[in-house]
Amino acid sequence: MSDQAKQDRPEQAEFRAQCRAWLAANPLPEPPVRLPQSAIEIMHTAQLEYLRDWQRQAYEAGMVGCDYPVASGGAGRRDCQLIANQEMQRAGRPFLPNILGLGMAAPTIQIHGNDFQRENLLPRLFSCADIWCQGFSEPGAGSDLANVQTRAERYGDGWRITGHKVWTSLAHFADWMILLARSDRAHKYEGMTYFVVPIKANLGKTVTVRPLIKITGETGFNEVFFDGLEIPDHYRVGEIGQGWEVAQTTLLHERGAGPWVTPSSGRGGDPERNIADAWGLLELARRSPRAGRTAADDPVLRDRIMQLIIRQEGSRQGARRARVPALCDHPQRIPLQAKLVMSEIRQDVCALAMELQGAAGTLSIGDANAPEGGEWALGYLNSYGVTIAAGTNEIQRNILGERVLGLAKSK
Ligand SMILES: Cc1cc2nc3c(=O)[nH]c(=O)nc-3n(C[C@H](O)[C@H](O)[C@H](O)COP(=O)(O)OP(=O)(O)OC[C@H]3O[C@@H](n4cnc5c(N)ncnc54)[C@H](O)[C@@H]3O)c2cc1C
Repeated sequence: MSDQAKQDRPEQAEFRAQCRAWLAANPLPEPPVRLPQSAIEIMHTAQLEYLRDWQRQAYEAGMVGCDYPVASGGAGRRDCQLIANQEMQRAGRPFLPNILGLGMAAPTIQIHGNDFQRENLLPRLFSCADIWCQGFSEPGAGSDLANVQTRAERYGDGWRITGHKVWTSLAHFADWMILLARSDRAHKYEGMTYFVVPIKANLGKTVTVRPLIKITGETGFNEVFFDGLEIPDHYRVGEIGQGWEVAQTTLLHERGAGPWVTPSSGRGGDPERNIADAWGLLELARRSPRAGRTAADDPVLRDRIMQLIIRQEGSRQGARRARVPALCDHPQRIPLQAKLVMSEIRQDVCALAMELQGAAGTLSIGDANAPEGGEWALGYLNSYGVTIAAGTNEIQRNILGERVLGLAKSK
C-alpha cells in the first residue's frame, strides 16, 4: 500500500480503488500528435481535442469535480479530488487541459457565484465542453493587480466591457473568461467587480484575441481586447465593488490552495521521463555521453542530481506536513509554499538537464539531432515563466512574509 493510500478514510479507500480499476480498464489511445508539456502550451487543435476527450472521459468516470455538489455538476464527495489526481498521475495519464477552469474559475464560481453560473457553467467546465481562461493581468496591472483599468460600465440591466488584458493563457481556445474589471474609478480596491464573460461567442465582434509568441515559438498566451462587450448582470460574480475580495479566492487557489495546483501528472507515459521532474535527471544522465563515458559516471553530477531529488521529494511532503497542527497555525502556510518552492526547483532541474546534455542541449524540438527530442531544452526555456506566473515569486515571498510570518509590510 502506498503512503498516500495509508491515510485514506474508508470511503476514500473505496474511491481510490474505483479510480485505479477504471484507469486500468480504460487505457488511452496513443496521441495523434506530440503533446505539449503543460496545458498553457497547447498550440494545436489536434492536441486540444485529444486532451479534451481525455478530460471528458475522466469527468464521466467521476474523477473531475468530485468534491463539488451534484447541483454544480460534481459528484458530491468529500476530500476525493486529490485522490483522483494521485491515481491519474500514478497511471501516467496526461494533464487535464482545462486547468485554469478547474484550478481557479470553478472554486471561485462555487464560492461567490450565483445558481445560474453554478448550474450552467460548472458542468461544462468539468467535462471540458467549455475551455476557460483568466483575464486578470493588464499591461499596467501585473503584480499591482488592483490597478486594473479594463472598464465595466452599466448599460440597461447589463454591463459593457472595454479594455485590454495580457498574458491570458489558453485564450486562443477559450469559451469563457474570469474577468476582473473596474466598475468605479473613484475607488481603487472597492472599485472592482468580477465577471464571467463569454469570449469565443463574441470573437470578431467585440472581442479580439491576439496570440503572443514565446521564445519557444509556442503560442501559450495572448492579448485580449474588449471593445464594448455587452453581458447580462447575472454574469457578475459577487457584489458590485467586491471584485477584489472575489479575486482573492481565485488567487489563493492559483497559488496552491486547491488540489489542482499540485505537481502536474506530466504528459503521461513513463513518469521518470516527465520533463522538469528531478527523477528524470537520473535517466538523462545515463543517456548523456561525457568524455567517452556517461554523465552518470561523474560523481559530482550524481551528487547534484541527488540534491535536487531530495529537495523535490522534501517539498512533495507538504500534504504530510499539513497534518502537523503546529505547522498549520496559518491556513496558507503550507499551500503557499508549494508554488514558490516547486517553481524554483523546476528551474534548477531544467538548468542541470541542459548541463548534462552539454552542447547538444542547445538543439530544441523539431531538430532531428536534439537529445530526448529537444524536450528538456523546451522545458528549460519554459521554466523561466513558472516563477512569474500566478504572481511572481517576489510577491509570493512578500505574502508569506507579511501574512504568514507577520513581518513588516513592504512599501
Ligand atoms: C507563463 C505565464 C502564464 C500567465 N498566465 C496568465 C493568465 O492566464 N492570466 C493572467 O491574468 N495573467 C497571466 N500571467 C501574468 C502574470 O500573472 C504576471 O506576469 C505577473 O503577475 C507579473 O506581472 P507583470 O508581468 O506585469 O510584472 P510586474 O508586476 O511589472 O513585475 C516586474 C518585476 O518587479 C517585481 N516586483 C513588482 N512589484 C514588487 C514588489 N512589491 N515587491 C518585490 N518585487 C516586485 C516582480 O516580482 C517582477 O520581477 C502569466 C504569466 C506567465 C509568465
